[in-house]
Amino acid sequence: MIDEKFIKQQKEKIEKDITRLEADVKSNKKYLEIGSSNEDNALEFESFEERQAFIKSAEKDLKELREAIKRIEIGKYGICEVGGEEIEKGRLKAYPAATTCVEHSEAH
Ligand SMILES: [Zn+2]
Repeated sequence: MIDEKFIKQQKEKIEKDITRLEADVKSNKKYLEIGSSNEDNALEFESFEERQAFIKSAEKDLKELREAIKRIEIGKYGICEVGGEEIEKGRLKAYPAATTCVEHSEAH
């Protein structure tokens, strides 16, 4: 059963991930703007392209995580979008922004 305590834990985890990703995206964007002389960000990339790819993927994750927060707020978190059943806790722990159960994840 997905209970309030579990959702609260997930929300905290999601909010932490959002904060971390926002900081990563910000520092990488800054890096792209001002060039390689600034090495103050913790992430190491081989190339400009890799950094851009990271930003793109992080922004996609951020979007999904923000949507997960919205679903928590409207009480729909952890419900499979396809079948309407509860998503497995293990799946939500591994992937807090999941919108479908394992069974329906392939079709999505
Ligand atoms: Zn499902």
